[in-house]
Amino acid sequence: MKCKHKFKTINTISQKTHKEGSKKFKSGFEEANSYGIKILVARQQQCLECGEKRTTVEISKRQLDSIYAGLSKILEDEQIDSVLSDTEINVRNFLIQTSKGETKTRHEKKAMYKEVWLTVYPLRRFGRGNTNEVVEWIVNISNFDTDNGRPPLNSLVVRGDTGMPGESWVVWKNDSDTPYTTVEEAQQACWSYEWS
Ligand SMILES: [Zn+2]
Repeated sequence: MKCKHKFKTINTISQKTHKEGSKKFKSGFEEANSYGIKILVARQQQCLECGEKRTTVEISKRQLDSIYAGLSKILEDEQIDSVLSDTEINVRNFLIQTSKGETKTRHEKKAMYKEVWLTVYPLRRFGRGNTNEVVEWIVNISNFDTDNGRPPLNSLVVRGDTGMPGESWVVWKNDSDTPYTTVEEAQQACWSYEWS
């Protein structure tokens, strides 16, 4: 004869979300929260008549919230990996630090082409011919950030003598979807943006 299981909780793995035996626990689930997802805890149950066991693994709101909080960062990291080279990711991190004033550069919160170059090749001499390579990195970085609604970090990469980007910035801007019309506007946006 088929047992109509009456499962009883024999073990609970919870993060104090519920106490076993509490009214909430017996009812099985909390009400759906604002995410529309019902939440609880992990628990093992057993039918006292036939001995069949079942395990229900559910999640507490706190765990769920922390997963949600980390998710956008995880997705962003994956996306960066697929678009930018390792060198470009390093340069981008350097420029983000620079925008926050956390690097020692000649021009405050800006980096010279040479300074960018030296973060990648600290032991090599920088010559004028190397500017193109730097421009290639920062263009790729800024296209990536523009596509994702962020300000262009190439506006912070400047010539030593003028403290401003070279002509290549305007060339890039005219060919890009960036909403910033002037270098100053783009720089201001980089400085006030909350980079993760
Ligand atoms: Zn049973």
